[in-house]
Amino acid sequence: MWSAAGRRADFLRRDAQLNVRNYYEASVLRDPPAPPLQGDLAVDVMVVGAGFSGLSAAIELARRGYQVAVLEAQQVCGGASGRNGGQTIAGFAGGQQEWERQLGRADARSAWDVSLAALDLLDARIAEFGIDCDRRAGYLYVADSARKARALEAEFTQLQRDYGFATELVHGPELRRWINSPRYCAAAYERRSGHLHPLKYGLGLARAARSLGVRIFENTAVRSLDQGAELLARTDGGQVRARFAVLAGNYSLHAHGPELAPAVNRRIMPVGTYILGTAPLGEEVCRELIPSGAAACDNNFVLDYFRCSADHRMLFGGRVSYSQTTPPNLQAVMQRRMERVFPRLRGTAVEYLWGGYVDISMNRAPDFGRVGHNVYYLQGFSGHGVALSGLAGQMAAQAIAGQAERFDLFARLQHRDFPGGSLLRTPSLVLGMAYYRLRDML
Ligand SMILES: Cc1cc2nc3c(=O)[nH]c(=O)nc-3n(C[C@H](O)[C@H](O)[C@H](O)COP(=O)(O)OP(=O)(O)OC[C@H]3O[C@@H](n4cnc5c(N)ncnc54)[C@H](O)[C@@H]3O)c2cc1C
Repeated sequence: MWSAAGRRADFLRRDAQLNVRNYYEASVLRDPPAPPLQGDLAVDVMVVGAGFSGLSAAIELARRGYQVAVLEAQQVCGGASGRNGGQTIAGFAGGQQEWERQLGRADARSAWDVSLAALDLLDARIAEFGIDCDRRAGYLYVADSARKARALEAEFTQLQRDYGFATELVHGPELRRWINSPRYCAAAYERRSGHLHPLKYGLGLARAARSLGVRIFENTAVRSLDQGAELLARTDGGQVRARFAVLAGNYSLHAHGPELAPAVNRRIMPVGTYILGTAPLGEEVCRELIPSGAAACDNNFVLDYFRCSADHRMLFGGRVSYSQTTPPNLQAVMQRRMERVFPRLRGTAVEYLWGGYVDISMNRAPDFGRVGHNVYYLQGFSGHGVALSGLAGQMAAQAIAGQAERFDLFARLQHRDFPGGSLLRTPSLVLGMAYYRLRDML
């Protein structure tokens, strides 16, 4: 039987392995790593984690005159922020129903508007800091059966009616003008959502944060956090004192330091998801496959999500692992999924294959809140975090600065613990998820 420490170390090892053949890492030039923290440091706010959430909070806090230190266990955007599908999506993973059920229509509408504000913030930051990250507008939600097409149409008709969110519904042969795949029979297209190169965007945020005076320490895992009016974080080489903390460590937060905020850890579960990157296909082939140039995802429970990169590769994401082990024959499985959508890519060379974990909350709604009066946490993006994490970081910063109104909207959402405690929750979840996968197949 493994110790808890052994399981955590194993999780971090698997997580690092999943990042080895990452297309994004291969297509940027990183600066030399920032030195780890050595000795004692006192700041106004410490941010744990240099992904989109943490960097966004740091930027907003520094703008407001706070002294900020970002403590990053590995390297800037080495977690989900540097590995994702790059899809910037309106709305939330679980849809609007959970919001309406828990908060009522008016607040559900506010939450929806927050998701659109997240897209605006992302674009504003790209423009303000001149971040070159291959940003493109356009998004396709696709359906692969008549039943899924009806569900898609119902969802987007409701979004138009109740939220004023306009999409173009496309059926039949006309669909080929948007996406050239025999797999799909219907789609909804909209231009608020889109895609980008997430690592270029994240490294741009880090440069912006540094330009505002934020100190970023890489290879600096926070191992423990003493709470109180003054917070004390311990790392291998030093310690940081601060009045406030933002925990933006996502799924690996507790793998580095299990005592950081155990109650919060129980509310998310890391679920593996994977992306394949082909060799360059050329501009013409990409235009033929996805004439709209949009990013796309289907509406299955275990979904396929894909897009063409700026250098004309197919980046095809999908397949999940609820047990946290990497699926066997992953490349072949991913290739089959891609060829099912685009048969003409049969035999195309695969140059990249990577993955990471998505921080899923029980109801798929984001989980932002506060532990004690001065430790904020941001998690549970459930696969919809590229844009939302930026706004979450900004909201945490605003809350720290005393502007808690929008933040509390999320904190009021009730989240339930996964059953079975932190060691046993995976098997029962695997059963539950298998049910939904089966339902999709049927
Ligand atoms: C394969 C994949 C595909 C995805 N696709 C999409 C998509 O297309 N669209 C979308 O909207 N979302 C997508 N997501 C989700 C999205 O990437 C995340 O929601 C988002 O990046 C979360 O950002 P973050 O800053 O909260 O977390 P992260 O980017 O994971 O950053 C957390 C950082 O904290 C550090 N850290 C953790 N613990 C500690 C500690 N104790 N001390 C110091 N540092 C610590 C980690 O090393 C990490 O760098 C995807 C995720 C994955 C994995």
